[in-house]
Amino acid sequence: MLNYIKITGGPLYSNSYIVYNARGRGFIVDAGVEPFKIYELINELNIDTIEFIVLTHGHFDHVFYAGKISEKLGVDVYLHRDDLEIFEYSAIYGEYLYRDVFVKPRNLVLLGSDSELYFGDVKVKIIHTPGHSPGSVCILVGNFLFTGDTLFKGTVGRTDLPGGSSRQLAFSLRKIALLPGDYIILPGHGEESSLKRELVENYYLKKLIEAHNTNHNKY
Ligand SMILES: [Zn+2]
Ligand SMILES: [Zn+2]
Repeated sequence: MLNYIKITGGPLYSNSYIVYNARGRGFIVDAGVEPFKIYELINELNIDTIEFIVLTHGHFDHVFYAGKISEKLGVDVYLHRDDLEIFEYSAIYGEYLYRDVFVKPRNLVLLGSDSELYFGDVKVKIIHTPGHSPGSVCILVGNFLFTGDTLFKGTVGRTDLPGGSSRQLAFSLRKIALLPGDYIILPGHGEESSLKRELVENYYLKKLIEAHNTNHNKY
C-alpha cells in the first residue's frame, strides 16, 4: 500500500511529493521546494530510506533543489534526457527567484522514452508526455499519476515556453486520457484531482483531445 504527501513551496508554489510505504521506504517526485520541508516530513513520517528522486521535467521550479537534496540523502536523480538542456539553464535562472545557489546533482540519471523504475517490487512507469517541455513525463505508480506541468486540475500545461508544443501536448494528453481505469492526478502546481473527473470537467483537456482526433482523421 502506497501513500503520498504533498509539499508546496518555492517562488512559484510548485508541488513536490513523497511517496512512501508502511516499511519506512519512499521516493521523491520533483525537488522545487525548500529542502528542510522535505527533511521534516521524512522524520515525521518515520521514513528510513529515500530510494531516489524523479523529476517530472526540467523547469527550475521543479528541480532547483534536486542537487542539494540528492546529495544529503545519497540518492540518484532521474530526468528525461530531452529536458537536460532546459534543466541546466532553467535551474541556473532559478537562482534569482530562489535567492539561493543551484547545485548540480552529481548523480543525474537520464531516462529514455517510456522507461520503468522500481520502488521495491512496485513498478514506477515513466510516460513521456512532451508538450509543456520536450522532456516532460507523467509518472504512474499504483493508482497515482504525477502529471508535473502537463495536466492540472481544470487546465493543462502552457506550451509557450522554449521547447513547448501544443501539438505535442495534445498527443501526450491523449495518451494519458487513454490510460485504462482511474488515477489520482497529482500535479506540479495546485490541487489533486482524478483522471475521470478531468476527462469530464477539464475543458482544455477535452478540446485538445478533440482537436487531436480531428486532425488525425484528416490525413
Ligand atoms: Zn514547467
Ligand atoms: Zn511548474
